Amino acid sequence: MTTARPDRDAARRTRPGLLEALAADPATRLVLVDARGRVSLDAPAQHTDLPLDGLTPARDRPAGEALELAPVTAADLDLAGLETYYLGREALDGASWLAVVVPDGTTDLADAEGAARPHADLDALLARFPLSALRAVGAHLSALAACLATPAVALAAWHASHRYCPACGARTERAEAGWAQRCTGCGRVSFPRTDPAVIMSVTDERDRIVLVHGSTWQAGRFSTIAGFVEAGESAEAAVAREVAEETGLRVASVEQVATQPWPFPRSLMLGYRARLEPGEEPARPDGEEVTDVRVLSREELAAAVDSGRIVLPGTTSIARMLIEDWFGGPLGR
Ligand SMILES: [Zn+2]
Repeated sequence: MTTARPDRDAARRTRPGLLEALAADPATRLVLVDARGRVSLDAPAQHTDLPLDGLTPARDRPAGEALELAPVTAADLDLAGLETYYLGREALDGASWLAVVVPDGTTDLADAEGAARPHADLDALLARFPLSALRAVGAHLSALAACLATPAVALAAWHASHRYCPACGARTERAEAGWAQRCTGCGRVSFPRTDPAVIMSVTDERDRIVLVHGSTWQAGRFSTIAGFVEAGESAEAAVAREVAEETGLRVASVEQVATQPWPFPRSLMLGYRARLEPGEEPARPDGEEVTDVRVLSREELAAAVDSGRIVLPGTTSIARMLIEDWFGGPLGR
């Protein structure tokens, strides 16, 4: 299966009139999202159940299993008055993609008596293709759908929360087809923020893995340690600090593995392997973020997962990927 990753086509973002031209082209494909992290899917039901931890924009899945975006083009929707961002071109056929932000209240006011319905065609589309929480469905999306929905949701959340200039307080306006903002007062240009977070498989000198139970998680759920990189801190230092804070264990070395965007609202997960200093045991949970710590061999973890005593993060989350990277194969499937 090919990886149908869209071309982000950044060079075209600054072309004058790009969004208007794409809105007027009936072939333009649309990604309907809102500022609360939801996306319209080609599925009859809403998916809003949030997992306790990780989702994940998916890797490729066999045809027939993946959820796809709602099949909507600019021929189906009058985009006048709606906020749009340019997401790029389809790599195979060159079609352009626009993110369209569903205004707050569009879905909530449907039954309000006498309410003005400025976007009746949008209402009709959303009735057919409801919005679902990306956080809940991300693991089930096709690779292309995940590659489009993830930046669309990230941009919508950024614009919704950054209406005013941090330098002078004047209103900001969208620039570069949604990928920047320009202040209407002082002209300052700003770009979407991404907050880096580290997530790591931690192993000891006997190659056992350290898993933690978060204080807000359901009973039995265990995952890898994770946390935000602080101001002025390297990601490698953040790995060692988070491990020490949550478990009291000292890290000897770290190695970067993979990364994953996490636009809830704006994180980037940086995946690491971390090796503990020799003789680091037993672990002590911090009692606040983490209430239980297990240090497990492969045999012990496999048995705990098979018996249901330990529940791991979802099968396409980066946390699960790091655990299975250490384990050497799939667990409990
Ligand atoms: Zn300003």
